[in-house]
Amino acid sequence: MATLPLPTDLFIDGAFVPGEGEAERVLNPATGELLVALPEASPEQLHKAVAAAHRAFGAWSDTTPMERSRALLKLADAIEARAEDFARLESLNCGKPYARALGDEIPAVADCYRFFAGACRTLHGPLAGEYLAGHTSFIRRDPVGVVGSIAPWNYPLLMAAWKTAPALAAGNTVVLKPSEQTPLTALLLAQVAADIFPKGVFNVVAGRGASVGQPLVEHPKVAMVSLTGDVATGRKVLQAASGTLKRTHLELGGKAPVIVFDDADLAAVVDGLRTFGYYNAGQDCTAACRVYAGAKIHDRLVADLSAAVKTIQVGLQDEEGVEIGPLISDRQRNRVASFVERAMMAGHMEITAGGRLRAGGGFFYEPTVIAGARQDDEIVKREVFGPVVSVTRFADTEQAIAWANDSDYGLASSVWTQDVGRAMQVARKLQYGCTWINTHFMLVNEMPHGGLKSSGYGKDMSLYALEDYTVPRHVMVKL
Ligand code: NAD
Repeated sequence: MATLPLPTDLFIDGAFVPGEGEAERVLNPATGELLVALPEASPEQLHKAVAAAHRAFGAWSDTTPMERSRALLKLADAIEARAEDFARLESLNCGKPYARALGDEIPAVADCYRFFAGACRTLHGPLAGEYLAGHTSFIRRDPVGVVGSIAPWNYPLLMAAWKTAPALAAGNTVVLKPSEQTPLTALLLAQVAADIFPKGVFNVVAGRGASVGQPLVEHPKVAMVSLTGDVATGRKVLQAASGTLKRTHLELGGKAPVIVFDDADLAAVVDGLRTFGYYNAGQDCTAACRVYAGAKIHDRLVADLSAAVKTIQVGLQDEEGVEIGPLISDRQRNRVASFVERAMMAGHMEITAGGRLRAGGGFFYEPTVIAGARQDDEIVKREVFGPVVSVTRFADTEQAIAWANDSDYGLASSVWTQDVGRAMQVARKLQYGCTWINTHFMLVNEMPHGGLKSSGYGKDMSLYALEDYTVPRHVMVKL
């Protein structure tokens, strides 16, 4: 793999500074080797970043949408100009195939900044008018203030874009904290953004959840916190935010049901599951991981899916034809392996593909299919966040809907059938932020992404995200 200097400096108040806190070991998950020991932000540095964002807020929130739009468009261009460097760092730090990072993620990142560059110029609301005689009312939508953006490790740069693009577009200032495991692309983003935004508008601090994330959430000058992460982290963030009653925006886990009716196009289902169940090694909150199959299609689906999954090419970032990489860490791999072990101990399930760790230095786990899963099984109920798909047979439509909704999560779902009416009826009943019909996993910046129930309530992408990062205000004039 070509060498690239690793960015290690934090970006605080327009200056690049080494972290002064404890160092975190940043690894290449495909080999387990150390990439860099990166010192995190000290408490003083975190405070400086928040204070800088607070100072910068007045002038940045006074800019016009056109000015902010220009800055975001410049940022999108600058990211594209360094696309290969971003993709290289992301694939190195996450273990994901370089071609996928370059072909899928970086274009989505640039498009996210471009979408919000346009969207911030089009916000609208109710008409100004005399709703009380002798008084004119109108609505403003103003930025919230300093936003603390906390990102996960599965798509580090893309999640940073989902959080920072609407926040900045709306006129907020930002302190971004990437995951301690995957800080590199956020630190490169700071380098690329340094000349585009006034000092203090955009800051990046690296560090762990407990020592940097939590103090960011608790900081009295942070007006809003946006987190993409685990449900347990969401709870901690809510608790920490309660002291200062700040606005929160939570995008948490998922356990996407995939309802496959007997009339579905089996080849399309198998192809879809092979892709959308295992993309990014299944480390995706929308992964198509919980399949419910009609009684007639079930056996063929299990057989064809298992055969297809055995052909998924697992490997190193630059290997020819590689489709998925390792899991992010040894800990995550052990977590996935123990889910599969416990499923096997239950006695009634069968591994029909994969089910093993791959030997060698990296944190690889074979793409796995588990057949015979029942609704109350842990593998059906809990998020694995790895390359594991379970298949459960259902008897009728009501049962499929009830089982799909019988979950703590509510992020994403899909329905596969050739009957449009049935697809629409089922989609209506599913308690999920998104339902796909005859596909899964497709995201566009114009449409919202976010959940219900324990999956959280913040919306990323779309005008709904801009709304989340602004406050509607009523101004009334006595005539
Ligand atoms: P995580 O919750 O461990 O970490 C997420 C971020 O929160 C990290 O930056 C971490 O440092 C920080 N953090 C941890 N503890 C904190 C605390 N007490 N206070 C403040 N910040 C804290 O999640 P992860 O393991 O990085 O990511 C995987 C999880 O993210 C999965 O559960 C997945 O489903 C979820 N996810 C959700 C979406 C979505 O859109 N809903 C997208 C991607 C990932």
